[in-house]
Amino acid sequence: MPNLEEMQAVGQSCSEYTPIHWGPRASKPEPEAISCATCVHWQGEEDMCALDIYEEQLLNLDQT
Ligand code: SF4
Repeated sequence: MPNLEEMQAVGQSCSEYTPIHWGPRASKPEPEAISCATCVHWQGEEDMCALDIYEEQLLNLDQT
């Protein structure tokens, strides 16, 4: 089960991150708001990332 800290760390390093609230009025997302939880690809805790790269991103984080 993903936790919020991991989702934030993954979102901030993920090249596929796309904010849900993308639009004309949206300014650059606050760094702390960047997380898988605010990514269009996130399908919820059950299905997680639609691109299926969450685990991969998480492993990449651990290498640093
Ligand atoms: S939900 Fe998927 S695409 Fe979006 S930031 Fe997380 S790992 Fe990246």
